[in-house]
Amino acid sequence: MTPWSLVSYRTTSGEDRVGVLAGERVVELPVAACSVLELIERWDAVEPELKKFDPDSAPEVKDAALQLPLRYPRKVLCSGTNYYAHMREMKVSRADAARPYFFLKPPTTSLIGPGEPIVVPADPAAKVDWEAELAVVIGRRARHVSEADALDYVAGYSAINDVSLRGPHRVQHPIGEPFQWDWLASKGADQSTPLGPGIRPAFQVADPQRLDLRLWVNGNLKQQANTSDMIDNVAALIAAASAILTLEPGDVIATGTPDGVGLPRGEFLRPGDVVEMEVGDFGRLRNPVVSE
Ligand code: MG
Repeated sequence: MTPWSLVSYRTTSGEDRVGVLAGERVVELPVAACSVLELIERWDAVEPELKKFDPDSAPEVKDAALQLPLRYPRKVLCSGTNYYAHMREMKVSRADAARPYFFLKPPTTSLIGPGEPIVVPADPAAKVDWEAELAVVIGRRARHVSEADALDYVAGYSAINDVSLRGPHRVQHPIGEPFQWDWLASKGADQSTPLGPGIRPAFQVADPQRLDLRLWVNGNLKQQANTSDMIDNVAALIAAASAILTLEPGDVIATGTPDGVGLPRGEFLRPGDVVEMEVGDFGRLRNPVVSE
């Protein structure tokens, strides 16, 4: 059976539907759903049906235009400094014993789907950088879950690009030590965060710590790593996040980026660039870069 992902697509007549991406084909989903998010909200009920689904025998949808698969998760949590090789290139240290670090992205204004433009400030001082990451999509409410149980709360996985503005991240004249870093200005910009192309159900992912991550800018490979280099694995991140707050179905956890970002090389995204990324065989997420 061809591996497949849940997608949101727009028909030629402008209707938004839920479908399945299998290889390069979009096919019909045999389960009625208003949206991928709505499907994930009743994951326990639909998962057994989806496990039986074979996309190779499903009718193809012609001219399906892929959209952001989740509109919109209630929360997008992002893990920072979570790959050994990325910490080395950023010249930061983090004791292995330290608990995971999270920040938030505003879902409705920052997330964009396949093919949608990444909008960057016209001023190059913004220093817009790429961060290819594995995205985890929560399928069941999770609060104070153990690492041993954590993967039971995952509906699926996707690719997310945690595009970051390095320019305004460090505050030059901080009020005081706690305000030296402006995470919102660095990570919360409008139309900055590609997610997709779809959501690969977790039951098709044998091990989330054995996935290749790749990112290209204008066809040049910039990031190539494996999720085995994560410091806190997916289960540890879910357990840690659920100790802080309630994870709800559809919530996304961006699990941190590996090495190969632009900052250490002084390379940043500019209008006219094209960014592509892949996680495992989930499909390619392609986004052009445009000026604000
Ligand atoms: Mg990141």
